[in-house]
Amino acid sequence: MTAADPVIDTSAPDRAASPPDRAASPADLPADRSPAEPLVARMRPFGTTVFAEMSALAARTGAINLGQGFPDYDGPAQMLERAVDAIRGGQNQYPPGPGMPVLRAAVAAHGRRFWDLDYAPDGEILVTAGATEAISAALLALCEPGDEVICFEPFYDSYAAAITLAGAVRRPVTLRVVDGRYQFDPGQLAAAFGPRTRLVLLNSPHNPTGKVFDAEELGLIASLCQQHDVIALTDEVYEHMVYSDAPAPHIPLATLPGMRSRTLRASSAGKTFSCTGWKVGWICGPAPLVGAVLRVKQFLTYTNAGPLQAAVAHALGSPPSYFAQLSADLQGKRDRLAGGLAEAGFTVLPAHGTYFLTVDITPLSGRTFPKSGSAGSADPSRADPAGVDPAGVDLAGVDSAPDGVDFCRALPARCGVVAVPTQVFYDDPAAGRRLIRFAFCKRDEVLDEAIGRLSQLT
Ligand code: PMP
Ligand code: GLN
Repeated sequence: MTAADPVIDTSAPDRAASPPDRAASPADLPADRSPAEPLVARMRPFGTTVFAEMSALAARTGAINLGQGFPDYDGPAQMLERAVDAIRGGQNQYPPGPGMPVLRAAVAAHGRRFWDLDYAPDGEILVTAGATEAISAALLALCEPGDEVICFEPFYDSYAAAITLAGAVRRPVTLRVVDGRYQFDPGQLAAAFGPRTRLVLLNSPHNPTGKVFDAEELGLIASLCQQHDVIALTDEVYEHMVYSDAPAPHIPLATLPGMRSRTLRASSAGKTFSCTGWKVGWICGPAPLVGAVLRVKQFLTYTNAGPLQAAVAHALGSPPSYFAQLSADLQGKRDRLAGGLAEAGFTVLPAHGTYFLTVDITPLSGRTFPKSGSAGSADPSRADPAGVDPAGVDLAGVDSAPDGVDFCRALPARCGVVAVPTQVFYDDPAAGRRLIRFAFCKRDEVLDEAIGRLSQLT
């Protein structure tokens, strides 16, 4: 740690904790611990992430990649120049563990400016290696083995893995399309809370559905968190991507009455400034919660992306026109792709935020697709029973119905486009069996070419 680290509590009693005499008894260990099966048992159900699989498929086949959500254009030129200047100017050593003061100050100013949320740069803000590390470190810091984490499925793929790494158990609440929009059953949410509930992990705007949780939904989540004394962890990486036809603006859960004191709010620069490869993220919340996350985070990466932190600090201070333009541009791309997908015959589901559109492939179900195992990082041991899809169509017994995984694996060969099957983001794959996701954060000419290719599908 450097002298600039303000958050570390040097009096912490466990600072030099001695190791236990002996580890757990061999009876608790999985049977197969041979070098041929070196991976810890709890991670064995997780495969390669679906994003890596689908991006590799795009690279192999030369297909247009509308799978993994990354822009094919750069962020603000001044931000890029700042980063180059920082590298050339010698800012290439470890920044302070909690993050560069200039970035923590910028994150604080951004929170006040857009959301009226006031976090102290020293102690209430921690810079992380993307939102991914913020979320993983928070789960590792806050969950005891056996604690339960409520999250809305389909969920972003790192959630399941990070919850599992923490020894915790996920409790999914399913988003289904009802009355033309993704909704959850308030009864299922209330029933998910129990004595072992530690955290609610909420992603809004939501990947992959594009759902923006409204005030009523957030109010229910907030009241259940307070009733059951549960911590909220919010993933707000798409906070600046809410479109003008959304039923609600983005509302950080921490702004609801009684929630600031029990909410950790994670976000990152990747989406807002079109620099997903930089992995500059942060997490904000009351000092005890942020301090707990720092205690874990310092041993994961300690710190990252030194010269990029000042550049992101600069970008966070961009004028309002930058943020308005970002969202207007993306809304145009969403509409462009939605029109093309509808023309191609897909049922396009509403998306009011994020980089993504989901579609139901049922109308293109006349064909049969090669059967394959499950893809992606979700637990492949899960059964894939026929059930009821989000549009309310009864799939029971319909074996020939197209499956999103098979559909996506066949798509590059059929028309030279890559998409992502959303069923891999569900614990209940039947709920997402016919849904696939397209990313629209691509140049217009790339979207147009993809639309042209998709229109060849019959
Ligand atoms: N959360 C969600 C919902 C995402 O879609 C992503 C992917 N950008 C992340 C977290 C990861 O963010 P980062 O790249 O900042 O780690
Ligand atoms: N967030 C990106 C997406 O949903 C992927 C990030 C990743 O590849 N882990 O497409």
